[in-house]
Amino acid sequence: MSVNVPKIGSRVRVTTMYPNTVVYRNSDNGYVTYTREGVVVPSIFRDPFMFAVETGAPDHPVSEFNAKSQHVVKIEYIVGGAQQLATDNKAWKVKSTDGKKVYLVQRVNGKFSCTCTGFEFRKDCKHIGAVAKKVA
Ligand SMILES: [Zn+2]
Repeated sequence: MSVNVPKIGSRVRVTTMYPNTVVYRNSDNGYVTYTREGVVVPSIFRDPFMFAVETGAPDHPVSEFNAKSQHVVKIEYIVGGAQQLATDNKAWKVKSTDGKKVYLVQRVNGKFSCTCTGFEFRKDCKHIGAVAKKVA
């Protein structure tokens, strides 16, 4: 399955579908679907089929999608939605202390997020600290 890459600035609802690997399969067809809604912003990846959606969700303010992915099954355009286009959308790759991992620190409208587990639990981490110091 693949979809067309949505235009930057448009408001969309993206539906993704994954095989349900949970033991208790009470969903009808063995698949679970997820939806993300927000404004399309440029992807941080240099791939013409990648696009990002700024959702404003605290856990995942920006979701990256690949239009060629079999998991992206549907894009709906939301007409008349508020155009809350990010004025500030940047990302940095930060190496872990042991140099074995690379985390992605993103800044959307002044709010930082990181892909490390520390951020997941504390909503702050040293990777964000390092980036904030660098860009200050
Ligand atoms: Zn981090």
